Amino acid sequence: MAKFTRTPISYQDPKERIHNFEEVCLGYTKEEAIQEAKRCIQCKKPTCVPSCPVNIDIPRFIKKIAEENFQEAAQILAEYSALPAVCGRVCPQEDQCEKTCILGRKGEPIAIGKLERFAADWAIENKLSLGKTNEKNGYKVAIIGSGPAGITCAGELAKEGYQVKIFEALHEPGGVLVYGIPEFRLPKEKIVKVEIENLKKLGVEVETNVIVGRTITVDEIFEEGYEAIFIGSGAGLPIFMNIPGENTNGVFSANEFLTRNNLMKAYRSDMDTPIKVGKTVAVVGGGNVAMDAARTAKRLGAEVHVIYRRTQSELPAREEEVENAIEEGIIFNFLTNPVEILADEKGWVKGIRCIKMELGDEDQSGRRRPVEIEGSEYEFEVETVIMALGTSPNPLIPRTTEGLDSDNRNRIKIIDENGQTTRKAIFAGGDNVTGSATVILAMGAGKEAAKAIDKYIMEKSLQTNN
Ligand code: FAD
Ligand code: SF4
Repeated sequence: MAKFTRTPISYQDPKERIHNFEEVCLGYTKEEAIQEAKRCIQCKKPTCVPSCPVNIDIPRFIKKIAEENFQEAAQILAEYSALPAVCGRVCPQEDQCEKTCILGRKGEPIAIGKLERFAADWAIENKLSLGKTNEKNGYKVAIIGSGPAGITCAGELAKEGYQVKIFEALHEPGGVLVYGIPEFRLPKEKIVKVEIENLKKLGVEVETNVIVGRTITVDEIFEEGYEAIFIGSGAGLPIFMNIPGENTNGVFSANEFLTRNNLMKAYRSDMDTPIKVGKTVAVVGGGNVAMDAARTAKRLGAEVHVIYRRTQSELPAREEEVENAIEEGIIFNFLTNPVEILADEKGWVKGIRCIKMELGDEDQSGRRRPVEIEGSEYEFEVETVIMALGTSPNPLIPRTTEGLDSDNRNRIKIIDENGQTTRKAIFAGGDNVTGSATVILAMGAGKEAAKAIDKYIMEKSLQTNN
């Protein structure tokens, strides 16, 4: 029955898309979006809303799409999210709003993410200006890092009338949205840059190539007259396995591999820093980062093997990305773990030695623990290995900031749910507090911190004026 069946969406043909970096999912047309929006039964107590980390009024924006009022649909989204065109593309909706959509009980849930993307793209294409700003209040706030956490915090404060400046270490703002997630999942010019431009239109200043903790310290930022600082520096430090051979030429961290492709356009041979992968590439890991690295290597012409120590059902990557990777011919080696990377006589990768695994008892995370099968080691030839095992926050800022505590995994300690750190006037949120998580959670943390910063500055100014 049409009510229970999702309106299909178009994708680039896998045979073609493995030769280009263009977006894979083509999005809904106007007619398709309206058709899908009309499936929503406008629940009185919508189960989808509490499952959205920023509580978007989902039925309200979907109703506007059904009524062909795309402008209002986009306006509703803008009330809740600074990056709807990004979230519509990369949020794990299947584990959040769509998982609890009532229609999912009898059929397919509403394609909430794809509808969000449609309305947000419509606003971009029609150059809709959605942000309203209060009059400037004369107070300055500094933001460290321009990822989803920093962008959201900056946008919220700018709208409240604060003079906001972002300090960003890289030459391009956007955090993982520009350096991590590839073009074929999240177009940079069309989407990310437009969202950053919208932020600048709100009056936010962005200074790139500033590494806080090295170029300037947190205390020096305060000396420039900032009332509060939000740290949204992410979790960009790659984790390695510490197995023999990991220093061999031809072993990359997924972060380096993706950054060189996304930010330095290394996939283009006419650029200064082209990247070459071997005929066969092994990607170790099973998250979104592993899928992005594997699919990027495929587009550079390699045969790509993903090596993952559990089974397909435990893969942490988004379902859609796994499906896309399978369609693109990525070969999955489940229940397999690398034990050594093998080098040739010139010090370049020539192979990888792996061991087969089986699933044992449940571990603390509730997942069955992978256990090595004795005597099952085997080798296969690869010329490039990409380690995609996760990342942790960089300790630079806590190390150079008196009174700012972090834990043994370099995560900045917060003392309440609003991002207050162990030092007055400094707030933090996103991956640097939680460890690698998701775009929407980082945005939620940025939003909460913005409210707390506003409250802190307003209370302080009342005390000073009394
Ligand atoms: P980041 O996005 O990491 O931004 C931090 C920024 O701070 C960076 O620009 C960094 O350069 C800057 N910075 C760091 N240190 C300093 C310093 N000392 N001085 C100045 N600036 C500094 N999430 C999803 O929801 N869906 C996905 O599909 C998904 N795919 C992903 C794919 C990849 C390849 C990666 C790496 C992550 C993915 N994630 C995904 C996770 C998501 O991108 C992150 O959780 C999110 O970006 C965290 O936001 P953030 O603002 O905390 O940090
Ligand atoms: Fe619409 Fe599903 Fe949300 Fe109900 S739960 S309002 S059907 S999206």
